[in-house]
Amino acid sequence: MEMIKNADLKLYSTMRLGGKAAFLIEVGSRDELIGAVKSAKEHGLPFIVIGTGSNIVWRDEGYNGLVIVNRIKGFDIISEDDVSTYITIGAGEEWDHVVQRSVEMGLSGIECLSLIPGTAGATPVQNVGAYGQEIAQTMVSLTAYDAQVDKLVTLATADCGFGYRNSIFKTTAAGRYLITDITLMLSKTNLMPPFYASLASYLEQHNIKDYSPASIRNAVIDIRQHKLPDPKLVANNGSFMANPVVDRSVLANLEDKYGSVPSWPSDNDKVKIPAAWLIDRAGFHDYYDEQTGMATWPTQSLVFINKSAKSSADLIKFVDKVKTKVKQDFNIELSQEPLILP
Ligand SMILES: Cc1cc2nc3c(=O)[nH]c(=O)nc-3n(C[C@H](O)[C@H](O)[C@H](O)COP(=O)(O)OP(=O)(O)OC[C@H]3O[C@@H](n4cnc5c(N)ncnc54)[C@H](O)[C@@H]3O)c2cc1C
Repeated sequence: MEMIKNADLKLYSTMRLGGKAAFLIEVGSRDELIGAVKSAKEHGLPFIVIGTGSNIVWRDEGYNGLVIVNRIKGFDIISEDDVSTYITIGAGEEWDHVVQRSVEMGLSGIECLSLIPGTAGATPVQNVGAYGQEIAQTMVSLTAYDAQVDKLVTLATADCGFGYRNSIFKTTAAGRYLITDITLMLSKTNLMPPFYASLASYLEQHNIKDYSPASIRNAVIDIRQHKLPDPKLVANNGSFMANPVVDRSVLANLEDKYGSVPSWPSDNDKVKIPAAWLIDRAGFHDYYDEQTGMATWPTQSLVFINKSAKSSADLIKFVDKVKTKVKQDFNIELSQEPLILP
């Protein structure tokens, strides 16, 4: 456990922007994590735990505190019966390795979450989701160090306040819980139709009738590789904007003006409109912004990429430009997914 001073935060965000952290430490066990928190508290420093930074943009000012990088490993089957297998996973495990391992065991429940970058411990934070699955559906509990009362606690799924790309870890309890492991209940039964629309049409186009976890994982990987940039090669944070949830009257107004508008039902009789559709229509399809060096990914405008941005200020300027134009054209406020820290 080595404390790094003046750590370059660009290396801890897949957007590859940001200043320096006063201190940074990688922890490989619960004890190391607790030790790091205690040391930060003793020195009166703020602290934050991160995984791989695939959902973080660091500000140019940097972080005047301790960044704790979670590398806690583990993949333990804790129990099983005829229908389910319970697995406890260390928060620092690479998420896609977890999906791969569970799929190789023939288990279903997270196969649609294939190829999402990041660590297992970050999945509850924004309730990661894709192609009709989200972590809230399979997670039964998690263990975290509660920095408010200085002890390890177990939270059940019902305690996590999960919503669409949301949880207490992003809102009411932001910064309080440092997740050390998660426990999933995976199923021994294959997924069955109906599938999420784009997955369903892929399966139909490729005449795939095998719905085993491995077959679904392969389909999801193929779809994602055609649509999304690999953060190891192209600096990005995945979808930068969440899909807005609006009243039906807002959709009706848009349909009057533009004809057919893609949408799908959401809670409380509201509808979700794809942010990518709004961004495209606002003139940002396959767009390179010379002023900031930021761009939208040609096959998915929701993904903002750092082509030649010099600072996080450039990125923030670009985000404001897109948000302002969408607001002006459609009177819809877009909200961003990645956190801009601190
Ligand atoms: C190309 C691409 C595609 C993506 N696709 C999707 C997608 O389909 N669906 C989706 O939901 N997301 C997607 N994402 C976003 C991202 O991959 C997820 O949010 C992922 O869970 C972040 O993991 P991370 O380890 O990188 O977390 P980080 O970015 O390091 O951290 C994100 C947040 O979680 C907190 N955090 C991290 N670890 C812990 C912990 N152990 N305890 C407490 N808090 C913690 C951090 O403080 C921070 O607030 C995508 C990103 C990219 C770059």
